[in-house]
Amino acid sequence: MAVEAKDVVVIGGGFAGLSAGAALAEQGFRVAVLESKPALGGRAYSFADDDTGDFVDNGQHVLMGCYHETLRFLDRIGARDRLIFHRDLEIEMLDGPGRRASLRTSRLPGPFHMSGALLRYGHLTAGERVRLIAGGMRMMALRRRDRDGLARMSVAELMDTLGQGERARQCFWYPLAIATLNDDPELSSAALLAEVLKRAFFSRRADSAFVYSRVGLSDLYCGAAGKLIDRSGGVVATRSIADGFDFDESGRIAAVRLRDGGRLGAANFIVAVPPRNLLKLLPETAMADPFFSRVCALQSSPIVCVHLWLDREVTDSAFVGFIGTPTQWLFNKRRIFERHGERAPGYLSFVISGARKFVDRANDELAEVVVKDLRAMIPAARDARVLKAIVIKEKQATIAPDPLSDRSRPAAITPIGNLFLAGDWIQTGLPATIESAVASGHAAAAALAARVGA
Ligand SMILES: Cc1cc2nc3c(=O)[nH]c(=O)nc-3n(C[C@H](O)[C@H](O)[C@H](O)COP(=O)(O)OP(=O)(O)OC[C@H]3O[C@@H](n4cnc5c(N)ncnc54)[C@H](O)[C@@H]3O)c2cc1C
Repeated sequence: MAVEAKDVVVIGGGFAGLSAGAALAEQGFRVAVLESKPALGGRAYSFADDDTGDFVDNGQHVLMGCYHETLRFLDRIGARDRLIFHRDLEIEMLDGPGRRASLRTSRLPGPFHMSGALLRYGHLTAGERVRLIAGGMRMMALRRRDRDGLARMSVAELMDTLGQGERARQCFWYPLAIATLNDDPELSSAALLAEVLKRAFFSRRADSAFVYSRVGLSDLYCGAAGKLIDRSGGVVATRSIADGFDFDESGRIAAVRLRDGGRLGAANFIVAVPPRNLLKLLPETAMADPFFSRVCALQSSPIVCVHLWLDREVTDSAFVGFIGTPTQWLFNKRRIFERHGERAPGYLSFVISGARKFVDRANDELAEVVVKDLRAMIPAARDARVLKAIVIKEKQATIAPDPLSDRSRPAAITPIGNLFLAGDWIQTGLPATIESAVASGHAAAAALAARVGA
């Protein structure tokens, strides 16, 4: 078939590739999405567990009201109603056996709603709470006046600058930083934390709300995005491994070569794969260009997720933060998923982000760590029997959020005229999250459409 100006190949079927493909399909482009795995979803996927009859997400994914690009994508594919929106931010934090305090936003309009939450936060003294609010305001001032300075600083150094004490760090700043940036505060870029804080807490009240999927992650967006692309005359092909590119004499990409020997031509190409996969696709000559060679500097950071099925429910809460234990978050899937398996009354998922010290341990050992933390924090769990555990280690869960990696993130527009990049690791100003993936997908689609003149 002859290649037309509106033929696009998107390589990678995660949030970035599918959001780029859906945006272009809606504008009349004929899109072919190639995904190497047997199913779409990339690093945000779910599967059915036959033993329990439950769905399992590779790891609990939390969105927030400030994920505007993601919500736009889910609206586009008709999937927003698969999300649960908390009206406000309300997080229960445990600092020892049953020692709970809530971060609950007040009814005031944003950004004053957060002051209400912090002023009532019971894990800190009155003085610590006031210093915490003052620290947040100073961070926003630094973000306005000295972004470059923040981009060179780690989160821990920023805390020194803001005069934040150990309790404020352990009970508020570090749980927030590790959950959103996925690494140790000593290593993570302060600029990324400031951006998260601005979007989530220093904006509208609705932007602070916790949001998560009531269905398995794959069911949230993969099928619906694929259908939109199909309906617009495109195609979504799984088990299609892109292996390299053929170039024409002007240095533009003519076609993508597939592992099965096939070849697919198009006018434009979006590569929406993790950095290491991009490097495998490019010819060696491309690495002479600093735009591409910089990508080699990107480091990654792991996440460990443990899913436990128990003989009883041990908490009514949908999610709980743990302070001071290796396990950082508990998610009660019985309160999150709308469809339940019948074989185990309790189903909890636990997250250890920035899990460098844990990711190489054996699965049994990791399950024990989590069970120990659960029993230490929630007394009702002490007599509960564990019926089944699944441990999922994502060794390269996200790019590392250190200042050097952050500076090495490329833009969507590349030096190759008809090649655009997408992925959570593209420079969006955000940490590597779903929102960054979708923002990059939309940016790549917009740049491509502008070039084609659509
Ligand atoms: C355990 C875990 C928990 C997380 N929690 C959160 C959270 O709470 N909130 C949040 O916002 N984010 C979270 N994230 C991050 C989020 O999952 C990612 O930011 C997002 O899924 C990245 O999407 P992507 O499309 O950029 O990349 P990917 O999802 O990695 O998609 C890239 C796709 O490209 C495919 N591919 C690679 N090479 C080729 C090739 N040669 N040919 C064809 N296809 C190819 C891959 O198979 C993959 O499907 C979490 C991540 C993990 C791992």
